[in-house]
Amino acid sequence: MKKIIFFLVVINLMTSIGFVTYLIISEERYEKLESAYRKAEEEQKGLMYAKTNLNIIEAENVEIRFLNDKLNLKNKIYFANGRIFVPLLEYMERIGGKVYKVDDVYRPELGEESFDAAYIGNDDKIRQNVIYIDDVVYISFFEVTDRLGLSAVFDSSHGKIDVFYKQKKLPDESVIKKKVDSKAAYLRLEDIMADGVDPEGSYNDEGLEKLRIIGDYLFDREQVFYIAWIPVYCNPKKDILNDPMETSSLYNAEFIYTLDYLVSRGGKIGLHGYTHQYGEEKSADGFEFGENSPYTDEQKEERMIAALKIANYFKFNVEFFEFPHYGATEQDFKTAEKYFDVIYQQSPYTMGNNKIDKISRGGRLIKYVPTPADYVHNRYGVSDMIERIEMSNKNEDEISLFVHPILDFEYISVGTVGTGIREYHYSPFGVLPTIIDEVMSLDHSFNEIG
Ligand SMILES: [Zn+2]
Repeated sequence: MKKIIFFLVVINLMTSIGFVTYLIISEERYEKLESAYRKAEEEQKGLMYAKTNLNIIEAENVEIRFLNDKLNLKNKIYFANGRIFVPLLEYMERIGGKVYKVDDVYRPELGEESFDAAYIGNDDKIRQNVIYIDDVVYISFFEVTDRLGLSAVFDSSHGKIDVFYKQKKLPDESVIKKKVDSKAAYLRLEDIMADGVDPEGSYNDEGLEKLRIIGDYLFDREQVFYIAWIPVYCNPKKDILNDPMETSSLYNAEFIYTLDYLVSRGGKIGLHGYTHQYGEEKSADGFEFGENSPYTDEQKEERMIAALKIANYFKFNVEFFEFPHYGATEQDFKTAEKYFDVIYQQSPYTMGNNKIDKISRGGRLIKYVPTPADYVHNRYGVSDMIERIEMSNKNEDEISLFVHPILDFEYISVGTVGTGIREYHYSPFGVLPTIIDEVMSLDHSFNEIG
């Protein structure tokens, strides 16, 4: 019989003096124990473990492998509000780790990596917290992967996730970090959407993994970035509508995993419309607001609210709104000002000055953030971008631009070494590496909108 190591905190519960001890127990006993020990804790603290308000759906036919071995979890894997949740104690035991517990804090540990996750009964903190499903402690798969130095490779159409060790970062002298006194520039990653359900889409499993690598690259260089998220992907001609709030699937869970990943690397999420299209156009091609939109002012407002609802369902802070192709009427701006603190385009009140405009609306400060350097139009457009950045710098405009991360996919390669290490290489000739080098050479770095 397999043995597991489990930190028992009965002594801790009895005395509340933060003292923990080891016991080695059998697997059957361990499940009973977990439940008994939770109840003891409830009584001790008078704390009721409230039923979670999350939308819990069994992730059927999802299989997780660790270093190519099936984990064969006895407890089910679930989607909780679309995120993958795994049974913490069993999962950690299967991958050869441990879980420590003191009071309400669980500490999963694998090798030298560990982190703390608490039960605080607040679903808004779903990413960081553990939750209880049928008396079993569950944790977000993202947390027990990323925070333990592991890498997940999804094969969403076959219901498979492979977990590997992530390549260890060598101390790389050539990585230039942000200078302390550098001036702020602004970077937005454009048209991020769950379009992998469409064979024409870019963010399939491979695209999402490369997007995560872009997040690592920016984080290593201490560059802050904004993520223009189109929450619902739509391709009417193919009858495709992918709303991740309506459909819990492994692909959508991977998309949310990727947003979690980017946020943990300093990415700031904003809403780039609701579907970024109308009529027969597909998402990211069409407009949605503005003069030619078929929607009434009320319908436009409803679309902003619907987008906010999705962000709220996934517990993401929304840091800006961006109109698709900047198409907006005067009334559209007024409506957006009701809901968002940052509207990511040139202020309609100071046309063409290429500066951040701060206005007051009912006691709230609203910022309009322009992108005078525009965007990289295609794979050959980097040198034009560099010229525009230099022009912005010369004119003392904001250095502000956006990039479609898909342009860099050809500069990123990924692979697994042996049976266990996921490695990647990002060419320094990629679009973002070239732009970052340029911006830093001008004593700027990409930063938060101040
Ligand atoms: Zn767009």
